[in-house]
Amino acid sequence: MRQAPSVIAVTVALAALSAALGPIAGCAPDEPVTVSREALGTVVSITAYGEDEAAVRAAIDDAFTGMAEVEAALDAYDPNSAVSQFNATPYDEQTLPPDAVEALDAIDAIGVSAEFSPALLGVVGLYDFEGTPSVPEDADLALAVSAAGGFVRVGNDRAVFSRTMGPDPRLEPGGTLAPGLDFGGAAKGLALDRAREALRASGTVTAALISAVSSTVTLGSKPDGTAWRIGVEDPRDSTVVVAVFQLDGEGAVSTSGDYQRYFEHDGVRYHHIVDPATGIPARGVRSVTVGGADLSGLESDILSTALFVKGPGAAAAYAEETGLGLYVVDGEGRALTVPAPDDSGLIVAEVASPTP
Ligand code: AMP
Ligand code: MG
Repeated sequence: MRQAPSVIAVTVALAALSAALGPIAGCAPDEPVTVSREALGTVVSITAYGEDEAAVRAAIDDAFTGMAEVEAALDAYDPNSAVSQFNATPYDEQTLPPDAVEALDAIDAIGVSAEFSPALLGVVGLYDFEGTPSVPEDADLALAVSAAGGFVRVGNDRAVFSRTMGPDPRLEPGGTLAPGLDFGGAAKGLALDRAREALRASGTVTAALISAVSSTVTLGSKPDGTAWRIGVEDPRDSTVVVAVFQLDGEGAVSTSGDYQRYFEHDGVRYHHIVDPATGIPARGVRSVTVGGADLSGLESDILSTALFVKGPGAAAAYAEETGLGLYVVDGEGRALTVPAPDDSGLIVAEVASPTP
């Protein structure tokens, strides 16, 4: 208790010092500004290059504002979000927020609707990842999966959950099995795209890396000509980097893993990426990382989740067909890499063996 005031004083002093030095110091073109803040449920770091430090910092502020807007629209766990407003009366046809339309369009365009469902709020909600570990009853899971399957888009920007079951209070809004939209598997990537556009639109940022830990996008090329390096952690040891995605210029990389939100029950790991067909956590994979120079953050985020559900073999086939770089750690801890095409601007390098 007695130490608290001096700790605060030191923090304030440092903040004042850097504020005083900031505008005077400026920054060399090859010395980036890095700002890290809590956002999107994690820590987001922006490293940006540009000659005018004050303008670069202003652009970074705009980038964080853009990300906050996407979060405010799509966060299904924020009762004030546009998606939560939709979810409050899911059986009424309603207009979707534009960010949700963009995500739905991307899911369709990529062709992963069987593996990536934006309608799994009621299904994922049956697993209590933050509270007491609980495995849902089979019958409840079947009901929630069926209710999720009732999601239909009406035209481009309207949608509704049509009832797939007879009357059941648990399926009504607020009930334990009520359906709802959840863009948790895509929103981070879309937010990173917004941040990148804000930096680009500033006209002052020449290159940048924006990382939300599990998803990263890059803008332009590093001024020193070296590649952007995005590390992939060992799914069983967060202190070890097992692969590095090296992007020459612009691109996106996302990881989905069974270690990000999970609990263990009777020796079985229940994690947060579920097969939309069954509602059960997808098996046979520990992590999937996918990247490409032509991928948006939104696409890479959707894809890492979808390829996790597909499993190693189908994920590899998808990456080969579409010219993406892929790194998978399977259920036994074996690594599988699909290199991106030679001239694609992406190299996937295995740097260590994952924990078996
Ligand atoms: P990510 O970490 O990007 O793979 O996203 C995982 C999150 O997406 C979960 O926490 C759920 O909110 C949601 N989710 C889980 N399974 C799926 C799925 N099959 N399709 C779409 N979203 C999912
Ligand atoms: Mg995702």
